[in-house]
Amino acid sequence: MVRAENVHKAFGPLEVLKGIDLEVRTGEVCCVLGPSGSGKSTFLRCINHLEKINAGRIWVDGELIGYRERGGKLHEMRDKEIAAQRRSIGMVFQRFNLFPHMTALDNVAEAPVQVLRESRAASRERAVALLERVGLGAKLDAYPGQLSGGQQQRVAIARALAMRPKLMLFDEPTSALDPELVGEVLDVMKDLAREGMTMIVVTHEIGFAREVGDSLVFMDGGVVVESGRPRDVIAEPRHERTKAFLAKVL
Ligand code: ADP
Ligand code: MG
Repeated sequence: MVRAENVHKAFGPLEVLKGIDLEVRTGEVCCVLGPSGSGKSTFLRCINHLEKINAGRIWVDGELIGYRERGGKLHEMRDKEIAAQRRSIGMVFQRFNLFPHMTALDNVAEAPVQVLRESRAASRERAVALLERVGLGAKLDAYPGQLSGGQQQRVAIARALAMRPKLMLFDEPTSALDPELVGEVLDVMKDLAREGMTMIVVTHEIGFAREVGDSLVFMDGGVVVESGRPRDVIAEPRHERTKAFLAKVL
């Protein structure tokens, strides 16, 4: 579902990604771990072309992201094509980014109407089902300000799912939550994984990575230091940097 090859990204003189390779198969959950500043968010943003990469290639479901290849050269796609690609990739951030003036139901139902041209009735019906699925069937008419952080994040997940993504990217989805609210969000993500969604999850939740992850990637300084089966990497990290990091978060 996802293949990244030698991805480089710099902001001016600052080299943030120095050749990232990654593969995620359909239906798999890939957890990405690493210290702050190691380039995890930047990498996720490259996958849906929110950042333009300086070298390398990324494919999602067989499609080259952001570029067309013609005569051995890459040409950036037009905005419309980029938007079309982005539509099939759901993203959930640390901060929930819900529309504050819209109810939970409207937050979930809006984009399918605006972007996918679904009928309002059909979109609302699906939004209700999605909010029920994330355990918020009783909060359809609540505004974000009336919801806990965990509830808001679950609305954000339902909103991303409303676009029928084939890939979901999570960027530290539980890092901004009070500890007692982390579990309810991870449970929703676990269900999603069980139902076969392909996911890349940047997280410091080692338990989640071990239980749900099919693979674990440890990044530091803009490179993948090591990767493998989560329980292997966690139990027997091969690199000093991984050991040091795990010792801090475990
Ligand atoms: P992580 O998510 O692993 O904490 P980030 O991908 O957010 O790391 O950031 C990696 C590095 O890139 C940091 O040094 C950060 O300051 C820098 N960076 C991220 N986005 C930008 C940007 N838009 N402009 C300049 N520097 C950036
Ligand atoms: Mg980050």
